Amino acid sequence: MSSAEKYRALKGMRDVLPPDIYVWQKIEGIASGLFASYGFSEVRTPVAEATGLFTRGIGEGTDIVDKEMYTFEDKGGRSISLRPEGTASVVRSYIEHQLHTLPSPQKFYYAGPMFRYERPQSGRFRQFYQIGVEAFGSSSPALDAEVISMLRHFLQRLGLDQLVVQVNSIGCAACRPGYTGTLISFLGERQGELCPDCQRRHAQNPLRILDCKVPQCIALRQGAPKVMDHLCADCRQHMELLQHLLTGLEIPFVLNHEMVRGLDYYTRTVFEVTSGDLGAQNAVAAGGRYDRLVSECGGPDVPAFGFAVGMERITELVKKTLPAVHPAPSAFLALLGAQALYEGLRIADRLRTAGIWTETGDHTASLKSQMRKADRVAAAFVIIIGDDELAAGEFRWKKLADGTGGSAPFSALSSFFCGCS
Ligand SMILES: [Zn+2]
Ligand SMILES: [Zn+2]
Repeated sequence: MSSAEKYRALKGMRDVLPPDIYVWQKIEGIASGLFASYGFSEVRTPVAEATGLFTRGIGEGTDIVDKEMYTFEDKGGRSISLRPEGTASVVRSYIEHQLHTLPSPQKFYYAGPMFRYERPQSGRFRQFYQIGVEAFGSSSPALDAEVISMLRHFLQRLGLDQLVVQVNSIGCAACRPGYTGTLISFLGERQGELCPDCQRRHAQNPLRILDCKVPQCIALRQGAPKVMDHLCADCRQHMELLQHLLTGLEIPFVLNHEMVRGLDYYTRTVFEVTSGDLGAQNAVAAGGRYDRLVSECGGPDVPAFGFAVGMERITELVKKTLPAVHPAPSAFLALLGAQALYEGLRIADRLRTAGIWTETGDHTASLKSQMRKADRVAAAFVIIIGDDELAAGEFRWKKLADGTGGSAPFSALSSFFCGCS
């Protein structure tokens, strides 16, 4: 072997190949069809943005920004980052194109790769995929309820069941500081016993202490005051109406006082959806309201609500719930000789333009070897074309599933495939 290197996909990155890609396409197809019926349009933003957008939008002090960003300098000396999540980019786009001047709410969805420099482990990738939605311009809990309902329908269509929405309110700029003050004084002297992560988070986002999974932190927060009991009147009213609307939409939900979500930008509603297929610990989707993010990223004061779903996790579940898809050719043309090749390519061309998946055999190979190939690609029908068939104006056919066969005139070839395969 020469000195040429053997290239492999980068650590934590991978190819999505058939048959998995059919599952991905199915999920994306269900998403775009369903989301459209709720008035969501697709938006495609670049995978790279100015680093400042993420440090500002997601927030310094979060694990994502502090530890996991794919950041580099471009040749012009600018700091660029691959997007670690979708919301900040969609917000940037919303502001840049002044979409707040259009009728509200403006509703978008996206599907694409995100990048985080994590230690790769089972089920986690450095390039991973998300489907997410962002809706701008309504502060009404009706938007929260509609989007949560849409997400639930999406997951149901994917065959996931026992879906439970866990919901919480983490307050707003008016009431959250008061609550975090109460939480900190509740912890009092015991603050020093929190895990190192919580100690660090503590100054920037004390709410994170509530969802820390470290046993000593769980013990320390026993009996801690609940954010729900410290909401201002507006936040309380928002939460009450949301629960009322979720009940009306027949969406099972539970209040989870300890769920705060990891990102700084959420206000009021935060939620996660868990599926019985995964066990209660694992959320399949999560999101919430972010009423201050647009203005914090330099735009007007526009409230918003969104969620994201991890494709890797969803595809693993969907593979268990939906029947496997194995697309196969409808027709395999076994071509015997040079004249058969000439006519065969013309016939294949006609079938393909009629939407019939057609493969052609090697005209120099034996019929037996071409039949074997047709079998390997699981073609529905083999069409045999040789000098004899051309002279007679009739092709021979064989249905591989049951071995039946016969012959028919070439003029009937297109209609032959109608309603079969
Ligand atoms: Zn409030
Ligand atoms: Zn902790």
